[in-house]
Amino acid sequence: MACVFCQIAAHELDARIVYEDESAVAFYDILQAAPVHILVIPRQHITGPLDVDGTQEQAIGHLIAVAAHIARQEGIAESGYRLVTNQGRDGGQSVFHLHVHILGGRRMSWPPG
Ligand code: AMP
Ligand code: ZN
Repeated sequence: MACVFCQIAAHELDARIVYEDESAVAFYDILQAAPVHILVIPRQHITGPLDVDGTQEQAIGHLIAVAAHIARQEGIAESGYRLVTNQGRDGGQSVFHLHVHILGGRRMSWPPG
């Protein structure tokens, strides 16, 4: 069976999708860590940032552009936001389909936990 995020991208599993195009999909995270917490994923199944190769660089760069579009759409472009991509155990990755978290609507602290 396809991974959870592949199923969301294929509309086989419900999610609050806020944006989609031919190579990326964005939807609200089920556990809201901030007033705006949206995940941007490539339609292509890539396990995580460690598995990105040269042929995927354009698709991965596109995720950042999509995040900027969504930030404007969600009204957090001016106040600012944080993009996070976790890799592996120490990175805190729990879903093994590459995704960029967009976090906004509150002041983020640094360093992250
Ligand atoms: P990470 O821990 O960086 O791998 O992030 C995975 C994120 O996916 C977590 O913030 C989860 O809350 C979120 N998540 C897991 N399953 C779903 C789902 N079915 N719909 C939306 N978000 C999900
Ligand atoms: Zn997947």
